[in-house]
Amino acid sequence: MTEVVIYSQMSKRAREMRVKCLRCGYCCHNACVVIVDDPKKGPIEDNLKIHTGEGKSCQHLRGNKPGGYSCAVHDEPWYADTPCAHHGQIENRPDMPCRMGVYVLKKHRVKPQLMEMESD
Ligand code: SF4
Ligand code: SF4
Repeated sequence: MTEVVIYSQMSKRAREMRVKCLRCGYCCHNACVVIVDDPKKGPIEDNLKIHTGEGKSCQHLRGNKPGGYSCAVHDEPWYADTPCAHHGQIENRPDMPCRMGVYVLKKHRVKPQLMEMESD
């Protein structure tokens, strides 16, 4: 059985650790994370899978350049219960931009301050 941390069960502190995503795409290509397979079914046990990362893009990732990526399931009502929704890395304030995103955009010469920043 796959174990998933449900967002509503997380501590307030853990929920506050979410970062402002700069849409660099790094984690959706490289993080090993539990994702929902069929968006129509939502996060039920038989519909979860491991996205292994390893440089492969998540099946829900859209876009083709750092700063321009987006998640196709981001607006689903169940998204808040997924591990992706509370991806927090090592930031310690919810209003901080993701430092990995800052690094990746800098590497690709995309200015973070020009990006629309989102926290979910
Ligand atoms: S589900 Fe969305 S946020 Fe999560 S890894 Fe896939 S594209 Fe990224
Ligand atoms: S900015 Fe951070 S949270 Fe957003 S895609 Fe990049 S690494 Fe992931």
